[in-house]
Amino acid sequence: MRFLCDAMLGGLAKWLRAAGYDTYYARQGTDVSDRSLTRKALEEGRILLTSDGGFLERKPVRDGSVGLMKVPHLPLEEQLRLVVARFSLTRLQSRCMECNGELEVVPPGAVSKRVPPGVAGYHEEFFLCAGCGRVFWHGSHWERISGRLERTFGR
Ligand SMILES: [Zn+2]
Repeated sequence: MRFLCDAMLGGLAKWLRAAGYDTYYARQGTDVSDRSLTRKALEEGRILLTSDGGFLERKPVRDGSVGLMKVPHLPLEEQLRLVVARFSLTRLQSRCMECNGELEVVPPGAVSKRVPPGVAGYHEEFFLCAGCGRVFWHGSHWERISGRLERTFGR
């Protein structure tokens, strides 16, 4: 299951990526017209997550070719909970929250020159993003993200 978030739902897009879902986020400054986003959702088989009703006018949404969920203005965790419940999502291998790329597990030796001194020695595995090349590890930032996902997914 893949998603496309409109320009108002960037936060939700990041959390869906952390939960392992391929999620395109329409960044401000790129073409974020309802028309082009609907076409992208149709071409890539993505479900539209939107904060307003504009997409309901588009033909592929009206005829059911593109799935759509209107996400209310709520705190991020509540939005995520609604999407998870609506589509019965389970937690998958995380994707890069920044760029949606797939993360590859790599050993400390592969990234020792790219992480702060000391970090490589304290962690057994690192995650290299195939999209943007960033390196991640399960530090305190990740613990907070993971804790929120656990509360939402129940594990
Ligand atoms: Zn990335």
